[in-house]
Formats: sequence, structure tokens, C-alpha cells
Amino acid sequence: MAVKNPKKKKNVPEGLWTKCPGCTQIIFNKDLEKNLKVCPKCDYHFTLSARERLAQLCLKKTFVELDAHMKPCDPLEFNDLKKYKDRLKDNTRKSGLNEAIITGIGDIGRHRVGVGLLDFSFLGGSMGSVVGEKIARMVEKAIAKRLPVIIVSVSGGARMQESILSLMQMAKTCAALAKLGENKLPYISIMANPTTGGVTASFSMMGDVNLAEPKALIGFAGPRVIEQTIRQQLPAGFQRSEFLVTHGMVDMVVERRNLKDTIDKLLDYLYKG
Ligand SMILES: [Zn+2]
Repeated sequence: MAVKNPKKKKNVPEGLWTKCPGCTQIIFNKDLEKNLKVCPKCDYHFTLSARERLAQLCLKKTFVELDAHMKPCDPLEFNDLKKYKDRLKDNTRKSGLNEAIITGIGDIGRHRVGVGLLDFSFLGGSMGSVVGEKIARMVEKAIAKRLPVIIVSVSGGARMQESILSLMQMAKTCAALAKLGENKLPYISIMANPTTGGVTASFSMMGDVNLAEPKALIGFAGPRVIEQTIRQQLPAGFQRSEFLVTHGMVDMVVERRNLKDTIDKLLDYLYKG
């Protein structure tokens, strides 16, 4: 009797299917995209690029991008395993972006808003000088036009290759958003998986309303560092959206399919245009 070789793999064409990290289900890519890149079986929220997020939230023909030409430079001539300059080139090629953020003005639902969308595929969505500058400029533009601001974060934190210049962006973005608040204009922050480090510690947590996608990792330092520091085991679900809602760090956990409507509704409450 012929025995099938269990190790023999069937030829599956690449790029048609994705395996869900949440439930290991194999999903047809077209179905995944139709479902806003959320697993239909277990609700795992896949990471979206800035362009994908923009397409989901914002009416395309209304969007005017700001400062698309701005590129990071290498003021410290930083070199770790690779030169920062080369890393920037590689990440631009890989992501098709000049920086880890897209900013602009566009319509979300019934409202015209200033938008910032981080992109994890560009150096882990990290915040360097240009990311901070683009956010500050977009917020200033929103103030001038009397528009609310929406920022979607997905980031590993401040960019170490720009050192203190990255950290200074925490103050810059927060100062711009404080000015937005003084002008009585609302800011809604949306945190996707993961939102960590200097981004969490600055503009991501500054929302008048802070929203998070389900099961997103949101925190400043990672759990291992905290465990080593406080010498205690951390509770289950620590630093995930659902845990943070019950502890008052996040206002609402919103499924991706409800995100646009939730923003729209919140702006109806908070904003008189
Ligand atoms: Zn799944």
C-alpha cells in the first residue's frame, strides 16, 4: 500500500493566502482585504500600512497630502550594524514612503479633519525629526482651518538613530496638540498594534478621546523590562487594549469595521465646524 509522505508540501502559489497569527487559519488574501484585514475567524487585526488605513478611513478624492516631499536626514551620521543613511534608503524602497508617516487634510465620514497615519513598515513606524515635524505642521494647518485632528499610531517609539532629536519630537508634537486644545478643536487618537515607547509617551496618549484597536499592545517600556525592574510577574493581558480600558488608560476599544463610524460620531459630539 502506498503511503503518502506527510512532509510533502502541496504547491500553493505565493501571495494568494495568508496564515493568521491569531488562529493559524489560512485566509484567502482577497477575503482578508474585503474584511479590512481582520481575520474572519478569530478577529485578529493585521497591521495596516498608512495607505491602506487611509483608504479605509478617508474619502480618497478629498485627501490632500501635506509635506510628502520631506525626507529625514542623518544629522548624527549614525552607524549601528548599518549606516542610518542606508537604512533610510532601504526603508523607502521597501515601503514606497519618504518617512514613517503620511499627513494631510481629508474627509472622514461627515467631517473634514487633519490626519496623521504612521506606517510600521518604515523603520517600525518610529518617530524621528521629520515624523514630529510633519505632525506639528499638520496640526498647525488644522488649527488655521479650524479642523479636528485624527492620528493613527502604530510605532515602536522614538527613533534611536536620531537620538535626542527624536526625543525632542515628543515635546514638539505635544506642544502643537496643546495649541489645538487651546483653540477648542478636538483630537482623537487611535492606537493600533503595537504603539509603544516615545510615541505612547507623547501624542498617542494626548487624545481628547483615546481609541485602541482590539488586542493592540500599547505601552511605554516592554513587559520584560518592567518585570525585571519591579521583580513581579505581570497580570495576564497586561498592556493590551482591553486591559488598558479597564484601567483607564484607553477610552474605548473599537473594532476596525466600526472605526470610521465611531470617529464620525465622536466628532458630532465634540466638534462644531
Ligand atoms: Zn485568525
